[in-house]
Amino acid sequence: MSLIEIIPCLSDNYAYLIRDEKTNKNILVDAPEHGPIETYLDKKALSLDAILITHHHNDHIDGINYLKIKYSPKVIGAKRDKHRLPPLDVEVEEGKELKIGSKTFEIYDVDGHTIGHIAYGLMEDKALFSGDSLMVMGCGRLFEGTPEDMWKSLQKLKQLPDDIMIYSGHEYTKSNIEFALSVDPQNEKLKDRRIRTLDSIAKGIPTVPSTLEEELETNPFLRESEASILDNIETVGSDPVSRFAKIRALKDTF
Ligand code: ZN
Ligand code: FE
Repeated sequence: MSLIEIIPCLSDNYAYLIRDEKTNKNILVDAPEHGPIETYLDKKALSLDAILITHHHNDHIDGINYLKIKYSPKVIGAKRDKHRLPPLDVEVEEGKELKIGSKTFEIYDVDGHTIGHIAYGLMEDKALFSGDSLMVMGCGRLFEGTPEDMWKSLQKLKQLPDDIMIYSGHEYTKSNIEFALSVDPQNEKLKDRRIRTLDSIAKGIPTVPSTLEEELETNPFLRESEASILDNIETVGSDPVSRFAKIRALKDTF
């Protein structure tokens, strides 16, 4: 097992530090800014051996330049997005494994929020680093991809083991849960989760990670064809993608 530490950055981003206890290598997922990450590493006198990038947005890469100069990590990101990522030492692709220290990561293309967004699966630790694709009771906004792109990405992530933990890029849970209740108001598990989640938020405890199982029960973007949701949205079509598109559009103006 490895330790996975949550490092809050900016106003609502998360970076994650995976500590491979077998080899003492430390692997960061996303670098929204360098300050909190530097403070964390230096306080514990840790090295930084690799940075995994989920996607090109500034709030996921702005800290990389500074961290690269100070700690010389290998910078790793999607080959198909390398034209707009910081210089990569390792280019990864879906279907090819990434090995760092004793850890093996699976790579998943998860277009939708951007085209070229990837997620990293660390199966032995039951962890998925999903960036701005699948989020706690939500999913990323569609800046570059179509509803179909994001829907397909989420279908892919739905196939992962139910007990995998979802480490997403932001603390957006408070607004996500209010939206989720607006489209799925009879969902008892969602009501329970709201109480637990608001309690965590009030205490300043991150709501990440969550399990895929919890998301399957409460995340409206994974539940576009559930009867309890269909009762509450005016569907434009009967196919899952148009239902998903409708829910995404409702969230955009919520
Ligand atoms: Zn983003
Ligand atoms: Fe983001």
